[in-house]
Amino acid sequence: MEFRTRAIHDGNEKCSETGAIVRPIHMASTFVQPGAGEWGEFDYSRSGNPTRKALETTLASLEGGCGALCFASGMAATHGVVSMLRSGDHIVAGCDIYGGTYRLLHKITERAGIGITLVDTTDPSNLETAITDSTKLVWIESPGNPRMTITDIAACAKIAHRRGALLGVDSTFATPVLTRPLEIGADIVMHSATKYLGGHSDLMGGALVVHDPSLFEELYFVQNATGAIMGPLEAFLCSRGVKTLELRVREQSRTAQHLAEWLDSHNLVERVLYPGLPNHPGHEVAKEQMQGGFGAMLTFELRGDFAAAKLFVESTRLFQLAVSLGAVESLIEQPASMSHASYDAEDRAKHGISDGMIRLSVGLEAVEDLQADLEQAFQKS
Ligand code: PLP
Repeated sequence: MEFRTRAIHDGNEKCSETGAIVRPIHMASTFVQPGAGEWGEFDYSRSGNPTRKALETTLASLEGGCGALCFASGMAATHGVVSMLRSGDHIVAGCDIYGGTYRLLHKITERAGIGITLVDTTDPSNLETAITDSTKLVWIESPGNPRMTITDIAACAKIAHRRGALLGVDSTFATPVLTRPLEIGADIVMHSATKYLGGHSDLMGGALVVHDPSLFEELYFVQNATGAIMGPLEAFLCSRGVKTLELRVREQSRTAQHLAEWLDSHNLVERVLYPGLPNHPGHEVAKEQMQGGFGAMLTFELRGDFAAAKLFVESTRLFQLAVSLGAVESLIEQPASMSHASYDAEDRAKHGISDGMIRLSVGLEAVEDLQADLEQAFQKS
């Protein structure tokens, strides 16, 4: 069946007890067992919960995996992946990654004796020199954050696998609507479900999807042992959001493309970073890797400094000043002082995160209203 049909039906079969078309939220923490030492499908909600399982079934179907695991947040999901590694192992990660992932790798994972090397993965050949005999995991984001860099997932998978490492992809920005990393060689797909999967700014969650059953078992073991699971209420809300994922992402991407083209010709804009623009360095790879749209995240730089960007992000009315992204409401932020404040200033400069940068999460409002909102902010700043 087609993606949007599976988003509505897979995992969401009617309730067998009552016929309810929307399944109930199972809040139970524990489940009665058939006998001592005998186990039913569910026994304790950390290990498995019917509402979480429904969402996991949908996500596995949409990403083309053998199974999915839902976590309390995107960071908990990423932490689940790095928790498979041991002291002495090594991770190579892209340098255009979410600030919280950078912090997890450098401030937590490194403490456990795991080496971290960041490289520019827009040129996958950089992986050849960065990967060592100890590298167990390559971690990339495409589009990257906040520069919207595009990394060729298939090329990275080939190199990682030849060198004996797994490839994990944070696909939060692309969503399975636009890119399905498992189908082009990745081993693990990660989502901050807080973003497009949920889609309504009302839940925190994370997800991992894999296609290798033994990798699934390993990650399931970590999840159950560490316990950062998604709660049933969040799983229910996320399942509801996923039903409209394709419609939202396609429409939001169309609006973002329009705004990117308009900003690109604006005399107060230094440059626009959006993979849907032909002048974006990753445009050709994005055309191959992203189907039917280039996403709803875009970054631009003002002709001005930190103060000008600060004034601009404080001047919009519809675009609300907040971190996060991927919901029906449009958001605006300044990466240097907000989403990427956890980078050291030196690393921000090294990785091209300038003070004048502004990141937009384009929502579902009418494109004319969003453009007018940005125009009035230009006039104030
Ligand atoms: N990955 C990306 C690309 C993100 O933007 C975020 C959060 O903004 C995360 C991961 C972390 O997700 P969460 O905030 O759900 O822990």
